[in-house]
Amino acid sequence: MNDAEPVRGEFAAVGRREITIVRGEGARLWDERGRSFVDLGISLGVGNLGHSNPALVHAIESQARQLIHVGSACDTPPRHDFVQRLLELMPPSLDRVFLSNSGAEGIETALKFARSSTARPGFVAALRGFHGRTFGALSATGRRDLREPFEPLVPGFSHVPYNDITQLDRAVDQTTAAVILELVQGEGGVHVIDPEYLRAARAICDRRGALLIFDEIQTGMGRTGRRFAFERWGILPDILVLAKSLAGGVPIGATITTEEVERRFRGTHHSTFGGNALACAAGRAALDYLVSARLDERAERLGTEAISHLRRSPSARVREVRGLGLLIGIELKERAAPYLQALRERGFLAIGAGPNVIRLLPPLVISEADWAAGLTAISEVLADG
Ligand SMILES: *Cc1c(COP(=O)(O)O)cnc(C)c1O
Repeated sequence: MNDAEPVRGEFAAVGRREITIVRGEGARLWDERGRSFVDLGISLGVGNLGHSNPALVHAIESQARQLIHVGSACDTPPRHDFVQRLLELMPPSLDRVFLSNSGAEGIETALKFARSSTARPGFVAALRGFHGRTFGALSATGRRDLREPFEPLVPGFSHVPYNDITQLDRAVDQTTAAVILELVQGEGGVHVIDPEYLRAARAICDRRGALLIFDEIQTGMGRTGRRFAFERWGILPDILVLAKSLAGGVPIGATITTEEVERRFRGTHHSTFGGNALACAAGRAALDYLVSARLDERAERLGTEAISHLRRSPSARVREVRGLGLLIGIELKERAAPYLQALRERGFLAIGAGPNVIRLLPPLVISEADWAAGLTAISEVLADG
């Protein structure tokens, strides 16, 4: 397949696009020439419910006929229903929601809530962590390659190695507003949090009066085999950020926190499109589908089987297979790009996570046949020789 030029007139900040996708259904995508692909991650964790999920399409169509947007000074039935449904899925302590439009905006909101409600300036985040590309979210992001071209960033952020309790304990003090963590580092190479570290992070934050923020933008909505990854270990955050698949592909972000954070918050925060009626109708349908189709259980089963399959069929090119549910990283001893290209030529669209990792995050509705075919294709392209 030849490299196409970037779309004419579009700022070329993300490199070349090589395929034009015109239609999607479940885990399948079709290009303009009618060629079919299996989405093994190309929708970046947004497509948990599958492309153009009929339940979602129906909700969007009927809401669009009724009302698309009104300012957040007014309540709307879809906004009301979505917030209620989301809170029903949360532990009782997480009972306040702020709605926005993307992951980064959800993170910005979390950072502002934390600073304001603790009256402290500092944040501690993890090296290799990814939280988004706006200035606050980028300041929390622990990758120099993403940060450096845009410095100076927001002051007050420090970064410590992921899963290192001693260093975290050293970094958090009386000036720390919050510690922010992913439960599986997605962009950073698919590294799963150590439960001991997670427990220690909660204890350290409690001891020093800092808040704990979970960035579940990628790990939420059934992806890791639980509806939300924190449920696996029963450790609760003070602030939870969701986005990506939360409204099944319609842009949305949610920052969910406690009554206490709300009570101590000084200041104002607002978002024109946040809580948009169309996005909320989609969000409500997405949550209902997540629960009724038991996407979390499907991710747990397909993911666990795949991880052991991939570990059982070793290739000399593979250093390690890691993951949780249907968020899987295959770390190679060499660059992943040529193998991603080889997969694409076979009709499977996976993505990288750093230079050496093949990242799999298919729609959770992927058929067993497509998933098995994807795993076979991976074994074939990684075969020695
Ligand atoms: C994608 C992602 C973000 C950023 O979300 P955007 O919607 O692109 O702003 C933040 N954190 C994590 C863990 C993500 O995977």
